[in-house]
Amino acid sequence: MTQLSFQTNAEGGIPEQAAGGILHIDLDALAANWRILRDNAGGAETAAVVKANAYGIGIEKAVPALGKAGCRTFFVAHLSEAIRVRAVAPDATIYVLNGLFPGTCPTYAAFDLRPVLGSFEEIEEWAGFCRAQNRRLKAAIHVDTGMNRLGLTVPQGLTLTDRAELGDFETALVMSHFVSAEESDNPLNRQQIEAFQAVRVSLPGIPASLANSSGIFLKDKPHFDLARPGYALYGGNPTPDRDNPMRPVAGLEARIVQLRWVEAHHTVGYNGRWLAQDRRRIATISVGYADGYPRASSARGSSGEELLAGMALVAGRPCSFAGNVSMDLITVDVTDVPEAQVKRGDTVILIGGDLTIDEVGRRAGTIGYEILTNLGPRYARLYRGGEG
Ligand SMILES: *Cc1c(COP(=O)(O)O)cnc(C)c1O
Repeated sequence: MTQLSFQTNAEGGIPEQAAGGILHIDLDALAANWRILRDNAGGAETAAVVKANAYGIGIEKAVPALGKAGCRTFFVAHLSEAIRVRAVAPDATIYVLNGLFPGTCPTYAAFDLRPVLGSFEEIEEWAGFCRAQNRRLKAAIHVDTGMNRLGLTVPQGLTLTDRAELGDFETALVMSHFVSAEESDNPLNRQQIEAFQAVRVSLPGIPASLANSSGIFLKDKPHFDLARPGYALYGGNPTPDRDNPMRPVAGLEARIVQLRWVEAHHTVGYNGRWLAQDRRRIATISVGYADGYPRASSARGSSGEELLAGMALVAGRPCSFAGNVSMDLITVDVTDVPEAQVKRGDTVILIGGDLTIDEVGRRAGTIGYEILTNLGPRYARLYRGGEG
């Protein structure tokens, strides 16, 4: 008998036969998506947002694949993520979006990272550090044009040139962020572009960046000097009112542990929230909310009803969940699949085909971003491509 060999690394150390869920990640599709975004960015440099472990797919795999495709600039949310990017991209430009935490300047300098400064306090701390070091280190400045979350206000942004601290460091980028770029005719998009344009004009010679994934596709083409896509790189649809121009990057399979018949008028799962109206066949699969699959995909109601709930593709057929999603298991109504086509140990598709990340998100009452960024550490991760 051959024994399964287990490794203990975080990315894909679990052998496929022992895994409840198998995550397929196509690094060639990731690279192709970056090129599609670059080709739509009107000549602007195209960066990659790789925060949250590259939206769940793995920083250490995604960053080198994007680098081979030609990406030179990366954005993360946390300093710790930036250090992981630096380890696999020694020459890249790396920005940290979540601002400068007090006392962290030396770490930025040690790893050649750039903070995105979003308040005068942060600007003063960075400028003070640069003065003390006698080095004009690089940073970005974030101006808030509507999110009311991070960044200087637009009036503050317009007074930046009057501030002496700006001479102490190099402002390598001025940026802002869209509130609803995925809504292509939302009037806020135009208002934000105009406010950002005014700040930009007041800072001549400083490169500017506004567009996230959806921003790249707006008819006003707010590409400026640098585009910052995240979601679309990983296959999410940046144009929800149109067909998705991106290729899928992540696919998820789950293993069937058991199959059983449930008699009419019996319930399935915790709290008995799903009722079999007639005799139903249930497949129990080895993925649950502890794997990051949302419990909000639970199917509460009864068989025969049209429920907004999670689905699996079983032998190619769409099958609805039955009952609550458990921590480690999901029950799927496979009655419509011919009995011979589904057996213990088979895998079903949770993400793939028509079950796009956008669709899985919709069925859980959330967005595909949350589906991706929750992809859990218990999956076997099978990476394909990425050789450039
Ligand atoms: C996450 C993020 C992005 C990327 O947005 P997507 O919608 O995933 O393309 C860009 N800029 C900022 C400031 C972000 O926080």
